[in-house]
Formats: sequence, C-alpha cells, structure tokens
Amino acid sequence: MTDTVLAQSPASEAAGRPITRLRDWLDHLAGHGRLAVARPGAALDFEVAAIAKRLDGTKATLFPSPSRHPVPVVSGLISDRGWMADAMGVPAGKVIERFQSAALSPIPWRQVKSAPAQEIVHRNVELKRLMPIPTHNEFDSGPYITAGLLISRNPKTGIQNVTIHRLQLIEPNRLGVLLLPRHTLAFFQMAEAAGHDLDIAIAVGIDPLTLLSSQAILSLDADELEVAGALHGAPLEVVKCLTNNVCVPAHSEFVLEGRILAKERELEGPFGEFPQYYGERAKRHVIEIDCVTHRRNPIFHTIVGGGLEHLLLGAIPREATLLAHLQRSFPHVIDVHLARGGVCRYHLYVQMKKRSEGEAKNVILGALGGHYDIKQVVVVDEDVDIHNPTEVEWAVATRFQADRDLIVVSNAQGSKLDPSSRDGISAKMGLDATVPLDASEFKFTRIQVPGERDVDLRTSIDNDTAVVNWRDRLADAE
Ligand code: MN
Repeated sequence: MTDTVLAQSPASEAAGRPITRLRDWLDHLAGHGRLAVARPGAALDFEVAAIAKRLDGTKATLFPSPSRHPVPVVSGLISDRGWMADAMGVPAGKVIERFQSAALSPIPWRQVKSAPAQEIVHRNVELKRLMPIPTHNEFDSGPYITAGLLISRNPKTGIQNVTIHRLQLIEPNRLGVLLLPRHTLAFFQMAEAAGHDLDIAIAVGIDPLTLLSSQAILSLDADELEVAGALHGAPLEVVKCLTNNVCVPAHSEFVLEGRILAKERELEGPFGEFPQYYGERAKRHVIEIDCVTHRRNPIFHTIVGGGLEHLLLGAIPREATLLAHLQRSFPHVIDVHLARGGVCRYHLYVQMKKRSEGEAKNVILGALGGHYDIKQVVVVDEDVDIHNPTEVEWAVATRFQADRDLIVVSNAQGSKLDPSSRDGISAKMGLDATVPLDASEFKFTRIQVPGERDVDLRTSIDNDTAVVNWRDRLADAE
C-alpha cells in the first residue's frame, strides 16, 4: 500500500467553514496528510476492511478498483474527534456545543429538480455489479452496506426520518435490515398495519456532517436532514427519488430506492458490531431495491463495523443529547464523555462543579435515565479531565469508596448487543468520585510542581543531539 497524499485543494481550505460535500472533505483530508490511497485491487472480502482498520483514526483510506470493481471505496472518513471539529469549522473541543446548537436550531432543506445523485439511473438492479460492497469482520454473514443513510417518511405526516442501519446483501436486489425499536421501525409498523410496504431510500457517499446528523437523537417527527442543514449553515439540497416520494441529499454518491417489505422476514447476521462482538443471526426485515441512481464516477463509502468511525459517529450526537438532558436538571454539570473503553455507548463520564452534597448521586440517576445503553456512570469534579481515562481512574482510586459512593440498580433495560446482559436486561452502576464538600482543603489538594506547566523545553534543555555525552557536559559547565 502506498501512502500517497493527494494534491491539496485550496477550495476546501477556507478556515472555519463547514464542509458540505464528500469530495471537499476528501480534498481536506488529503491536504492534511490524512488520506491514504491503497494499491489498486485490494479484495472486498476482508482486505479493504483490514487496511482501513489498521489506519483507523490516523488516516482515511481510498481504495481504487477494489476486487477490480470500477467504483472506488473510501473508509474512515471521520474517525477522530479533531477531524469532526475541522468538518464543522470549529475549534477542537467545541464539537458537542456545535452539534447541540444545530440540533436546537434546525434549518429546513431545499428541494432541487435535478441533482448529481441522479446523473446515472439503473432500473435493472444488481447491487453487486453497481457498487463494491465489502465484507468486514471474520464471521460477518456476507457483504454489508454499512454507511447508508436510510431515509423514510412517516406514512401519516410525511415527515422524514434519517438513520443508519446495517444492510446485508441477501439477493441481487434485496437487503436484510436490522431495525432497532426506533423511528424507522415505527414508520414501517404503521405501513405494515395498513398492509403496505414502506417506501425508503438509502443514500451512500455523504458529506461528514450529514452523516453525523443522521445519528442525532431527536423526537419522532424531527427530520435529521434539517440538523445537517444547521451544521452546514445553509439548507441541505435534496432531490425527490424517481420511484417514490422520499427526498435524498442531492450530492449523494449513490441512492438506492426501494421498499421495506410488509410481511417479509429473512435471516440476517451475524455482523460485527460496536461492542466488538457479533450481533446475532435472526429473522429480520427485508428491503427490495427498485432503482439505483448515482453520480458519474461515484465513490462508495464503507464503515468498518466496530471501528472508530462507527464508534464516534454514535458518540458525538449522544454526548450532545445527554449533556443537554443533564443540564436541564443539573446546571452544575459541565461536560460528558462516552469513553472509548465503554464502546462509546455504555460508560459515561460526567464532569461537574458540585455545590450540594448528594448532588452527584442525583446526576448518576439522571444520566442512567438518559439512554438505555448507559450502563456505568462516573461523576468527577471539574479538575478531572474526562477525556483522559487515566484521570478518571485516578479520581475513582482516590475519591471513591464503594460502600458510600456506589449505586447499583438491578434488572434495568440495557443494550441487547451487550453480551453480558440477559437479552438486554442489564444492571446499572454509578460511581460518585467527587470530593466531599466538607473535606479539609489540603486533604484533596492535588500535588503540583510550581512552574511545571510553564517550562519551555526549547530554552530549558540544552540537548541538541539524541545521544548526549553527559560527562563532557558536566565538565563544560564547571
Ligand atoms: Mn429520527
């Protein structure tokens, strides 16, 4: 594999401007040395995922002619929090704040008549021929489309929902889909109860901010594409599908138009999921694709199941939602973080400025109610960096006593993908690692060497070579 860095595009370099196009984002990544280009011909079975995962969080990877398919694959587009800040055009550390404000002030989309996403139309659908669909993890049941925005309309209100579902290729024009108990399933159940299929579209090859907005935790009739508009700072251009009334991002690389079939279920899975285990094989819903449209020379995006891109896409919008949820009741909560060791879903760290004794325990109870996936909450004081797991562990080691500061709740609802749960029945644990308010100040005073932070090593250290002759240096100084 080569590490070629593509030419920098000046167009994408306007500082502080959100990225609105996938191709601008690839230019941006390339211009910052964050895009690797693989040697042509990497195999769609495992090899694409293996290379992408090795570079996960360091570089995105572009794969020309994977398994000799004419369409290239890209992976790892937003596998770093700092990159998300760049895509938003905000300083690192402002990602949650920016996402929160976008979710609170959505911008309605703008429908256009013609779109790049519909430059080429295929009504005779053989998905494998049209797009390079990789197989990712060892025991995955086959090729999966993993980075498709599944867009559907509420059969009663017409308001759209946007989310990502794992999609297994089961026949040339059919996909098995896992619908968790959220909005797509609610719309489908309305359609199926009326004896209808649910019209949907799947958009693949999307700009990073629209991808992120698809993971926003909103109410049933809030359209995630309006959050994308707010993140872009301008209405998202959408185009109506050719075979149904679903509206899709106009600049998608691929659009698959189809239906979730009423009264049809087929076996789907196993599939490597975010907890780093396989989601099980079971009978699931089925999508039939009626038409595929795409850009000229399209690019196919894949997310490696369980990789950083998968984990962070879910984490950022959840953190924003959980922070807003907690701050409504607890104004002294400063920040939250879904730790990577907790698969960016199960373990929540909360930073707060405690004002009353007992407040941290209320925060634990509030956080556990914030999302059923949350299994463990650690509350720390404002001097603890919640993005550093060593800091959080230190706070637990020195400020927490299990008989006094631990909360355990049995038999609550948890994540079905947590293999230690009993089919989603899970215990919850909260750790109050805050300092007691009545503690004598010196007891919890963190040691610090005066001046350590201000040392300038370029002037303080006189060491111009890696190997130093310390005897000569001492003699010189005499
Ligand atoms: Mn929704």
